[in-house]
Amino acid sequence: MNISEKVHSSSGILVYFEIFKNEIRPVSFELLGEAYRLSKKSNEAVHIVAVGKDIDFVREKIKGFPVKSAYLYETDKFFQPDIYEKALEDCIDKLNPSIVLIGGTAEGRALAPRLAVNYRTGLTADCTELDIDENGNLLQIRPAFGGNIMAKIVTENTRPQFATVREKVMQPVKPDFVENTDFLVQNLDVEESSMKILNIEDTAEEDSIVNQNILVVAGRGVKKKEDLDMLRELAELLGGKLASSRALVEKGWMTHKEQIGLSGNTVCPKCMITFGVSGTVQFMAGMKTTPNIIAVNSDPNARIFEIAHYPICADLYDVVPELIKSLKGL
Ligand SMILES: Cc1cc2nc3c(=O)[nH]c(=O)nc-3n(C[C@H](O)[C@H](O)[C@H](O)COP(=O)(O)OP(=O)(O)OC[C@H]3O[C@@H](n4cnc5c(N)ncnc54)[C@H](O)[C@@H]3O)c2cc1C
Repeated sequence: MNISEKVHSSSGILVYFEIFKNEIRPVSFELLGEAYRLSKKSNEAVHIVAVGKDIDFVREKIKGFPVKSAYLYETDKFFQPDIYEKALEDCIDKLNPSIVLIGGTAEGRALAPRLAVNYRTGLTADCTELDIDENGNLLQIRPAFGGNIMAKIVTENTRPQFATVREKVMQPVKPDFVENTDFLVQNLDVEESSMKILNIEDTAEEDSIVNQNILVVAGRGVKKKEDLDMLRELAELLGGKLASSRALVEKGWMTHKEQIGLSGNTVCPKCMITFGVSGTVQFMAGMKTTPNIIAVNSDPNARIFEIAHYPICADLYDVVPELIKSLKGL
């Protein structure tokens, strides 16, 4: 098949569903939501592929989601890229999809490059936006050159078009569909992996800023390290955690684990209140899908106000003590 035939014959958007401890990772539903939005533009069907133990449980979990077909591969092997890639290759060979979306997670980052090399095609890692261009190509958008520009990348001549997508940047879709999904369940029969797992440790941290419903965020507008105490108190009163922009990490006042943004964490709490954060591209790359953003900044032209749902132009040193007082009922 020549290049043009391959490009024109491929169709469909395939989403890799990541499984961990018999649970579907949330990023999978975020990708599914994005795939659905793209499919409406490109007029293609959405499919999923998942690999794991007792994988049939996925049937129940995707009820009501817009999935045309689901390729489920049964294996009792823990994730090893050279084994799992065989499942994805089998699925891609059967389906011939135009687009393959994979989470920008540790697992996705191990899997996607191997597949892109095997299919001699393009991969854009860590996309923050996706779209379909006028020629039907996947527009893969991500920050580049230190976040100073947003690069738009297309894979014009080869298929599939692979993209990994950051967690928590795409909106999941609700299971409100009547879709008769076709299921193809099969055993994944492969040789032993060339890698040997020595130990499996659960590194998930419940109190990580990534897992919070409420975040109070400190920026360079905070003048002294001690002033973080009042913001930490406010976060605790609200039942959330304190996080920060990189400016305070560079000062050594906060840790990298507490940093939001391009070179930190991507977060999507239910509500975020920023204090003295200007709203640079690099900061916003890590939080802009947050559904409720309250921004306190003394500069009426601060960029954070462009995405804030509740912009408050004020001095944080006036606002924070008042908020603490009222939350304490004083
Ligand atoms: C490759 C690269 C990666 C990066 N990654 C990240 C990243 O992951 N996360 C990140 O945050 N940054 C990142 N940066 C840095 C980024 O460019 C900015 O330097 C940083 O986001 C600025 O943080 P800030 O908004 O807290 O500070 P500033 O931009 O200095 O803003 C401070 C704000 O506080 C306001 N202010 C001052 N006093 C008060 C007051 N009393 N009350 C209320 N408001 C007040 C000011 O009006 C101002 O808007 C990165 C940069 C590069 C080059």
